[in-house]
Amino acid sequence: MQRIHCLIIGSGPAGYTAAIYAARANLKPVMITGLLQGGQLMNTTEVENYPGYPNGVLGPNMMEDFRKQAERFGTDIRFGVVTKVDFSVSPKKVWVDDTTLLEADAVILATGAEAKWLGLESEKRLNGSGVSACAVCDGFFYKNSEVAIVGAGDTACEEALYLSKLCTQVHMLVRRDVMRASKIMQERVLKTPNIRIYWNTETDEILGENAVEAVRVRNNKTGETFVIPIKGFFVAIGHKPNSDIFRDYIQTDNEGYVITKPGTTQTNVEGVFACGDLQDKVYRQAVTAAGTGCMAALEAERWLSAKGLH
Ligand code: NDP
Repeated sequence: MQRIHCLIIGSGPAGYTAAIYAARANLKPVMITGLLQGGQLMNTTEVENYPGYPNGVLGPNMMEDFRKQAERFGTDIRFGVVTKVDFSVSPKKVWVDDTTLLEADAVILATGAEAKWLGLESEKRLNGSGVSACAVCDGFFYKNSEVAIVGAGDTACEEALYLSKLCTQVHMLVRRDVMRASKIMQERVLKTPNIRIYWNTETDEILGENAVEAVRVRNNKTGETFVIPIKGFFVAIGHKPNSDIFRDYIQTDNEGYVITKPGTTQTNVEGVFACGDLQDKVYRQAVTAAGTGCMAALEAERWLSAKGLH
């Protein structure tokens, strides 16, 4: 069986950046891509906030650039899904597609997170054409327009405030008569004149053929429905980190985000590092994911050297 120095699980900005650094440090990294090679950015259109692309770049094209750069330095990229791990032994064991067993000294977890969606047909159909789960990524496209946002947690409040600075009106759809967000965030939202809150309100359907034109909402107390004309529809009902297969070994918080030692990417298991959205519920940006990917590779390299494994 091939013994791997540095195994990277996941192929978003965090995984690819870890690969670039690990390959350049001669760790001969092997990357297991996961089902969606390139990660969440494969579902995005224009990315305008990643430094180095002055004219913006399409998410999939950017990930293609990341892949080429990782390959250029010799990363062994393998398409597959990690289905099981055993981090109680040394070297660590990782099974790919239930069949292939790999053994690795250091493992970098970069499996990311997924936005939660409402589950409407129109939401899926108009994704990328007015429907988005990231205000910081896509808010700019709706400058001087009206938008709606669904959710009532800290993310929804933060994104509603962000959108209120760009858009003429933000319609915030809250399914209960209270918000889950911290008091301070709620107060900020309530004090913002161009954010209108609709309590006890759920989304019936997003309207529009090829682009979002309006949303039909329903008051779940009165049953009344009405249509709000908008250009952008933002979903901010939480994210789910892809940590399920690691949970028997790796400490997570109660939402499933991997806990790392502050200021590092080190998990509770020696030689296992976590980077990107898998361990970040606050920033969730490609550039911050790439930053922690770099940290994970540098820390893996130091750990391998200290153990005499490289
Ligand atoms: P949360 O799980 O905290 O909130 C999700 C919100 O979405 C809730 O208000 C929930 O409503 C609502 N929701 C869920 N499903 C639906 C649905 N189907 N239809 C309508 N509404 C729905 O997620 P967040 O992403 O907001 O936050 C995750 C964590 O990250 C939290 O711990 C938060 O504090 C933290 N965070 C911290 C930040 C900071 O410190 N700056 C910034 C952003 C997040 P309901 O309340 O009715 O369940």
